[in-house]
Amino acid sequence: VRENPNEPEFHQAAKEVLNSLRPVVDANEEKFRKDALLERLVNPERQLKFRVPWVDDKGQVQVNTGYRVQYSSAIGPYKGGIRLHPSVNLGIIKFLGFEQIFKNSLTGLPIGGGKGGSDFDPKGKSDREVMAFCQSFMTELCKYIGADTDVPAGDIGTGAREIGYMFGQYKRIRGVYEGVLTGKGLSYGGSLARKEATGYGLLYITQEMLKSKGDSLQGKTVIVSGAGNVATYAIEKAYQLGGKPVTCSDSTGWVYDAEGIDLAALKEIKEVKRARLSEYKNYRPNAEYHEGRGVWSVKADIALPCATQNELNLDDAKALVANGVKVVAEGANMPTTQEATDYLQANGVVFLPGKAANAGGVATSALEMSQNSERLSWSFEEVDQKLQGIMANIFHNIDNAAKKYGFEGNYVVGANIAGFEKVVDAMNAQGIV
Ligand code: NDP
Repeated sequence: VRENPNEPEFHQAAKEVLNSLRPVVDANEEKFRKDALLERLVNPERQLKFRVPWVDDKGQVQVNTGYRVQYSSAIGPYKGGIRLHPSVNLGIIKFLGFEQIFKNSLTGLPIGGGKGGSDFDPKGKSDREVMAFCQSFMTELCKYIGADTDVPAGDIGTGAREIGYMFGQYKRIRGVYEGVLTGKGLSYGGSLARKEATGYGLLYITQEMLKSKGDSLQGKTVIVSGAGNVATYAIEKAYQLGGKPVTCSDSTGWVYDAEGIDLAALKEIKEVKRARLSEYKNYRPNAEYHEGRGVWSVKADIALPCATQNELNLDDAKALVANGVKVVAEGANMPTTQEATDYLQANGVVFLPGKAANAGGVATSALEMSQNSERLSWSFEEVDQKLQGIMANIFHNIDNAAKKYGFEGNYVVGANIAGFEKVVDAMNAQGIV
């Protein structure tokens, strides 16, 4: 806090992790202190901040700021998405990169933690403007990344279009055709099921948790926030597993459709037209559309926050409990505030934290890296099956870690400890670096 006072999201994420690690650290206090293991863990190996100049359609030069935080390479090359959103600053990228270390470790795959982004807003920009930005961003970033060093991916505001422009620019400058980015288009090295992976994975882990309690998604009402990549495919998989998703939202408003969200309409509005959710009523006149936020006020069994950080606060948590919600699984990164998490857990709600619940995206990105390395493409079914196995494993690992340290059912503690154990083991083995 003293060194980086203007990074509240990073402090929030670091505090949560460090508190959970207490039982592990207490058991080995002297070693942790002497080797400064926690100090090394919270300090990124490297953080980059750079100018991104580009020319808009009026001929005006615009200047944005680019970031890449290469947090930890203890267990593999840095891996984590690129966020393009006006709210982006170093503290947000650091919080995301820090969380990514543990998430990537939980997948069981050899990937380190990193994150990047810019305060550029793709919304309302022409394709040419987005390309100009992406090319300028990559012109600087390409000096620091590579298929064996750092492999960025998509995140908020970075989808297939942006990844394509960045990949093209990387290839042009570096002169190598390699899997330097994931989330690529299928015609140039992308993986089937990557687009669906985070949303699908969220439902797979929720299903595995319910199964462990003799329950299932069948007949459950599900409330979802967000209307982007994660939310859309969470809704799709919720239907496939027998649930009924009734809400979605964007940054201007939210939809309640009592008969269940019309997935085809949602995809057309968001993926094809890149429009606002207010258009949803044109497709479904009986649905409700409200300006502002309000998804968490709807009665349901399961809540899936899939938009952005700190979108579910204490008042929302009280509304969820009052409305009978029994499960909250985070599709977004840190969407639930600490007070809201505490309240949900204290009131018997099963809480699956993002670093476990949304790890399906990065896990499938690692599968994309494997396919690129062997220059082969796997079928949708093969990738999807691996994803299901990975999510089931993550659930059992976090469940067992929580039990081992006497926190049965606390998946926040379980996820932090299970993710941490492998990283700290690798740090110890590699000496003081
Ligand atoms: P998208 O850009 O595809 O969608 C984001 C959605 O959230 C949009 O509906 C957007 O609305 C809404 N949103 C974003 N910021 C805000 C805000 N400040 N207030 C209200 N609504 C907001 O991103 P993704 O779906 O890819 O990412 C969603 C979350 O999931 C993020 O936390 C991301 O880090 C996390 N995540 C994503 C993964 C992936 O594979 N994509 C993997 C793991 C985690 P609008 O369009 O109006 O801005």
